[in-house]
Amino acid sequence: MDKRLRWFDEGAPKLRQVLERLGLGAELPDEEFYACPCCLVAYPRAAVTAGLLTIEDVPPKSLGGRPLLLTCKRCNNTAGSDFDSHAAIRASSDAFMRRQVTGRALPATAYVDGIPLRGAAQWTESGVQLFGVPEKNDPKVQAAHFEALDAYAERGDRDPDFSFTVHTRFDESRARVSWIRAAYLASFAALGWSYILREVMDPFRNQLQQPGVSILKTYLLRTPDVAAEERRIMLVERPAELRCVAVILGEHTIFLPSLFEPLPYEKLVEALAMLRKSDDQLSIRLDGKAVPWPTRAMYFMD
Ligand SMILES: [Zn+2]
Repeated sequence: MDKRLRWFDEGAPKLRQVLERLGLGAELPDEEFYACPCCLVAYPRAAVTAGLLTIEDVPPKSLGGRPLLLTCKRCNNTAGSDFDSHAAIRASSDAFMRRQVTGRALPATAYVDGIPLRGAAQWTESGVQLFGVPEKNDPKVQAAHFEALDAYAERGDRDPDFSFTVHTRFDESRARVSWIRAAYLASFAALGWSYILREVMDPFRNQLQQPGVSILKTYLLRTPDVAAEERRIMLVERPAELRCVAVILGEHTIFLPSLFEPLPYEKLVEALAMLRKSDDQLSIRLDGKAVPWPTRAMYFMD
């Protein structure tokens, strides 16, 4: 069977069960339905074959993610341009600053004696490699750039007036929301409907619907030395003032409301502000129970 239909069939009865527990049983239609976890719009099974419910990678594929669950086509597509593209550029930019050999080049301009050559730059085992892109350069300027470079070589001058600038453009807050969104989806896949269908989770969904407004501020901290492939979900018990669900996606730790007696959004932000360093790095050790990383939506709490 189509994986999407299987995932629909696993999620729909769980959702019904949770809504019935919330006392909404009388209002539910007979037909099976699954709600997009991002916008909570409910879809019938036919929406799968119509392509309205789509497989979502968590984190996004461009950030090393894998297929995990169903979201609606609209949320899936808009996240790509609204948030994920920013996170991908930010990640490439970070990798470049750390001199990582990724095989991916970034747009760059090289200067010799102030004469520009537009192209791309990437790190290789032997150092930074810069190359021009002919259609981005005025042929005369390009020729002058290489002439200046040759002149240094001919003179045997080992200290040329050389510099380069890498051009990356991304919105930091949108890049952060991309990671927060991935954490929200991973925690949904692990814990289920009863975890996300609580009022305390509303700010997350509101942020996803309003990409231009800054609703979630300090929900994410970084630990730069953690491997990019690291994936963990932890029910944080200590420090007690930070009880929450922490989702670790590589160097990013995202803090989501806890399962029981969740701290309101403002309290969680306050606790985080006390416990982080002056920059966005995590400065404390988190202790608690680990939740197995989901390979598909598991609905452990439902
Ligand atoms: Zn949606």
